[in-house]
Amino acid sequence: MSSTEAAKPNRDVIVGIDLGTTNSLVAIADERGPRVLVAPGERALLPSAVRYEGSADKPTTVVGDDAKERAVEFPLTTITSVKRLMGRSIADAAPDLAYLPYTVVEGEHATARVLLPLAGGSRVVSPQEVSGTVLGALKRRAEAVLGHAVSRAVVTVPAYFDDAQRQATRDAGRLAGLEVVRIVNEPTAAALAYGIGLERDASRNRKQDSVVAVFDLGGGTFDVSILRLTPAQVEGETSFFQVISTAGDTRLGGDDIDHALVALFTRELRERGWLDRGADPSPQVRRALKQFAEEIKHRLSAQEQARIRIDVGDGSGSRVYERTITRDELEAMSAELIGRAMRACETALRDASRELGARTQEDARRMIDAVVLVGGSTRMPLVRRRVAEFFGLEPYTAIDPDQVVALGAAVQGSLLSGGSRGSLLLDVVPLSLGIETVGGAVAKLVMRNAPVPARAVEMFSTSVDGQTSIKLAVYQGEREMASDCRLLGEFHLGGLAPMPAGIPQVEVEFLVDANGVLRVSAMERRTGRRASIQVIPNHGLTREEVDRMERESIAHAREDMTRHRVTDLIVNARLDIRWIEDRLTRLGERIEPAYRDELRGHVSRLRDLVDRAASDWQSVNPDEIHRAKELLDRSSVRLQELSIVESLRSRDA
Ligand code: ADP
Ligand code: MG
Repeated sequence: MSSTEAAKPNRDVIVGIDLGTTNSLVAIADERGPRVLVAPGERALLPSAVRYEGSADKPTTVVGDDAKERAVEFPLTTITSVKRLMGRSIADAAPDLAYLPYTVVEGEHATARVLLPLAGGSRVVSPQEVSGTVLGALKRRAEAVLGHAVSRAVVTVPAYFDDAQRQATRDAGRLAGLEVVRIVNEPTAAALAYGIGLERDASRNRKQDSVVAVFDLGGGTFDVSILRLTPAQVEGETSFFQVISTAGDTRLGGDDIDHALVALFTRELRERGWLDRGADPSPQVRRALKQFAEEIKHRLSAQEQARIRIDVGDGSGSRVYERTITRDELEAMSAELIGRAMRACETALRDASRELGARTQEDARRMIDAVVLVGGSTRMPLVRRRVAEFFGLEPYTAIDPDQVVALGAAVQGSLLSGGSRGSLLLDVVPLSLGIETVGGAVAKLVMRNAPVPARAVEMFSTSVDGQTSIKLAVYQGEREMASDCRLLGEFHLGGLAPMPAGIPQVEVEFLVDANGVLRVSAMERRTGRRASIQVIPNHGLTREEVDRMERESIAHAREDMTRHRVTDLIVNARLDIRWIEDRLTRLGERIEPAYRDELRGHVSRLRDLVDRAASDWQSVNPDEIHRAKELLDRSSVRLQELSIVESLRSRDA
């Protein structure tokens, strides 16, 4: 009896999981308060490393510390940093491939997959499966500590993760037997862990927004986000966080500092002639050096100097490398890296300025109410000093920077399961979403930074007579033309009754759920035909791309607007011209010759402009097309009357 009870999930529990590039954690917030779940004798951090063993058809996995420590020995079967591949295409992942010791291959839909050489052949696994294995280990850990099954979780992702990357994270949860009830941005979770936005402090003017900077320096990635928090005005209402800017570097973190130390050790060992000049040190030596480097770095966060001693010889004590490293030395080695992080802070601040209504970057800086430190590497005193200097504020450090994201996710989990404060609306749409219209422009339905869940509906029609199927192509991006945005997916609405162009009324609905996953549906009003897709893009965007798309959209804004306008004018003008020519033919003799000539004159002037614009959109001033189109529209009023009379007559007949 009791065993089945233990296996039954406790429906009330929603754990919080920080699925990190380097380390992952699971936490819970219940009546005993928020805490990380860790079994006695375990470390709270579970390295996000999975080693595959055994045969290709039935591999087994080792997750965590053991996999991390022996990664250098098993470079091809130990998967680390798989978060970099989640929801991304092989092309997106290209810049990372040089740094990943294992083999990445192209899977279905150009996705990035991992190829594992195992006994009896090779096996290809998806990043979702690898992350799923990490999540599975966290689920078992939580179950062991809590003593009952756990089946629901809030999982965090970086603020810049796009739809595909978020979807991949949900899928990883499903593979681990976890329902991911909410995906939350890491900086948002960090702010929540500090109770920012939850505290009921009477001394504060609750109506006022607050602005929070979250500085996250982990193992391999750095990002800084500026959030605006609109607090709940009354108990039970919704507080919400908006990420107003995010900047960073996906190739900057504590690992770089470890590498710098390893390079120093290697250089000095070579100087002593204890290491071959050309050849790489053996995997065993590299593993030792890397572990020493990380350990010494950690010690130097707490003390002024640390000493290492490595026996690189045969154990006889003849080749013992001993070295004292001071914090000053380490800081000198890290200064350039930290400098890069600080420059990203400037970018984030600059990008946030407009949204904050600040006139200068200095103003924006003064508007920041709190700075939260996240990520193991923010334990370095140098980082803390530089951050405090930059923001002119003492950062929040009360919560362990390793744990802050997981604890925040747990807080969100408890809010969701408790239901007392309802669901916090947390996130925003990172890039605008829309569909391609005739001529290649993008009609945006959901704008960038719209809070989720978001819903938008717009009516569209056909551009060709008798069309029985409509293609809907869904795009993401800030630019006006589809060719400059990113195709997320496409689908067809078929089975329409043939109707003249412009007559079908197609209602297109965009729904972005609380996790940022997009569903697009289309319905033709007359036939009631429906079609929809859940947009699971083939691959995601890198943050560099998001940055680039944003920069380009600003740079090209004016040009894009013009082009969009010209495109729309061409499409509409051609529809008008077709309609008029059609009526001129049908009505024939019934149109008096002078009026016919007038219309023909307007048509040919407009057609001329439109044809020129179609071959080179910059060659024509859109205002000119607009004027010509208006002239034609105005003079065609009488034609419309004639054609209505005509159609009534033919109905009578
Ligand atoms: P991620 O978010 O990428 O999973 P973490 O936030 O867990 O990463 O940070 C891991 C990094 O933090 C590693 O590079 C680790 O060496 C570093 N780190 C952890 N503790 C300390 C410390 N005491 N001093 C300096 N760096 C530390
Ligand atoms: Mg992290």
